Amino acid sequence: MVDILNLTFEELETFLVEKLGEKKFRARQIWQWLWNKYVRDFDQMTNVSKQTRAQLKEHARIFWPEVVTTSKSQDGTTKFLLRLADGALVETVLIPGSQGRITQCLSCQVGCAMGCTFCATGTLGFERNMTMSEILGQVLVAREYLNDVAERPILRNLVFMGMGEPLLNLDEIMRSLHTLNSELGLQFSPRRITVSTCGVNPEGLRRLGESGLAYLAVSLHAPTQELRRTIMPKAARWELNDFIEALQSYPLKTRERITFEYLLLGGVNDSLEHAKQLVRLVSRTKAKLNLIVYNPSGDEADPYAAPTEERILAFEQYLWSKHVTAIIRKSKGADIKAACGQLKAAETGGTPCCAQSD
Ligand code: SF4
Repeated sequence: MVDILNLTFEELETFLVEKLGEKKFRARQIWQWLWNKYVRDFDQMTNVSKQTRAQLKEHARIFWPEVVTTSKSQDGTTKFLLRLADGALVETVLIPGSQGRITQCLSCQVGCAMGCTFCATGTLGFERNMTMSEILGQVLVAREYLNDVAERPILRNLVFMGMGEPLLNLDEIMRSLHTLNSELGLQFSPRRITVSTCGVNPEGLRRLGESGLAYLAVSLHAPTQELRRTIMPKAARWELNDFIEALQSYPLKTRERITFEYLLLGGVNDSLEHAKQLVRLVSRTKAKLNLIVYNPSGDEADPYAAPTEERILAFEQYLWSKHVTAIIRKSKGADIKAACGQLKAAETGGTPCCAQSD
């Protein structure tokens, strides 16, 4: 049985021609039913002949992730716990922005191998990569959910900031980006997609950059190699200086900048000295900064605390005084454990590095 949502457009053409003996043009019709009209049943494809539908049912299946739970935060953030075909659990979050626009935070791996110390996903360890169909299944679930919401909010932006490190699942991410981009399908232009990495290898970064299929965000969280090694030990295997050098040659469009995510951890990386080091570091690139305020998990074992309001403002002001664009992002969905660093994909609990929107 072929997982039909896991085929790119070209692969679908090949499948139809070689496996079903169909004409190539059928791919356009079927693709639109799958990715634009969101059908889950081949029998709903009314402009496809009965005979072809019967063949499709025999050789392929349409599988969407099953929604296990839907949690809604007081601030409007919605988190879905999803079960994949093999029973693996992942989470995706819808974050409301201005004018009814929604940003969806997507997961790309079951668990994560990076083990960042502030992140609940990191504690899970790595289970497996998600396929394109599983990654985009999250978008299909979100679109269907939003269609039923009275105010008809628009799914505007996608951010790969959920569970997992995108550059460690780059083949499936690239396939997903191509499918997202399809004019016959989901119609997400690269300007509406951000891929966030904590920086794992130069090859992945280069491949993503050359594709031009998404904006780049960098989970930085520490301004020095030493501190980064403490809070993101695996990401720090790529020396910070080398990482920044690679970012200097990252291909950017006119006026495009790299977004650096900096999670303010009380007493750890939120001092004025850290702000100075940060300015020196990011000024080497075309950068803007998102300052994310840490949400303590409430667990006794949580090693981190929220920064004080005073330190947050002083940090932000220092960056602006040095002409570095910095925006404080309040992590949303904390009450449903959907905030930055909280994704865990457990049937009883809370999920990663996802934060804010807009
Ligand atoms: Fe993985 Fe991102 Fe969490 Fe780090 S912050 S452990 S890269 S999910």
